[in-house]
Amino acid sequence: MRVEQLGEGTPTVAVVAGIHGDEPGGVSAVERLIEASPPVERPVLLIVVNERALEASVRYVDTDLNRAFPGDPTQDAHESRLAHDLAERLEGCTVLSLHSTQSHPEPFMVVDQVDPLVERLAARLPVESVVDTSDFIQGRLFAAVRTIEVECGLQGSDAAAAAALRLTLAYLRAMDVLAPDVATELAEEFGVGPLDDPDRTETPVYRLAEQIPKIPDEDYKVLVDNFEHVREGERFATGPTGDVIASESFYPVLLSADGYESMLGYAAQRQRIVSSPIRE
Ligand SMILES: [Zn+2]
Repeated sequence: MRVEQLGEGTPTVAVVAGIHGDEPGGVSAVERLIEASPPVERPVLLIVVNERALEASVRYVDTDLNRAFPGDPTQDAHESRLAHDLAERLEGCTVLSLHSTQSHPEPFMVVDQVDPLVERLAARLPVESVVDTSDFIQGRLFAAVRTIEVECGLQGSDAAAAAALRLTLAYLRAMDVLAPDVATELAEEFGVGPLDDPDRTETPVYRLAEQIPKIPDEDYKVLVDNFEHVREGERFATGPTGDVIASESFYPVLLSADGYESMLGYAAQRQRIVSSPIRE
């Protein structure tokens, strides 16, 4: 685990990348920020977490780190000990955790509650939607420390790496770590485009309702796009036993043929809209 701090004092803000070793985009964003070492208004922790898994380009070495919190220092599993160490380092921090998916190219935010902080960040981060995962937080970083996860795009893509940088800069600006002009200059320097999208005035919130199971090691094909409404009775995937039909209407989230071992992804309901205030 690589832990760096910008600024003096005890940090209450952190950015974490590389919880999963096969998601390099967030890691390159954090490394570039460490290298640039910009002036900060308040201290921030920048952490690259699972270096062993990153080196091997695998999701995890022994067990999924984002199912291992709060962790246990006496366990043999690498990720159990790592979860414990990371939770300890992050105590008292509000954390942005950078991830990427096999299911959706556009950035979205994953949260365990929709409160004023999340509404503020939803309005100020370049994300197209917010996913409320509050029924499914067991073992995840959410369970250990106040966390905002962002899915930056497709695993291993340049677009996900650029989005990770843009999201990190927008987060650090929203949390008053980076002065607005410093964040804007860095975005230009890194070539990741503007931090604001003036055309986006509202952000939908989807709440994950249930997991859509699959049989491990069988071939599936997903036939619909994430966040696009699936009607009751609609065929949304094919698998070893034929068509997979929606028993009720839902919005697919994190749906992909190969993203998970024993599920295709989640069925969500669209809950509400967070509107963006006029940007300052
Ligand atoms: Zn991940």
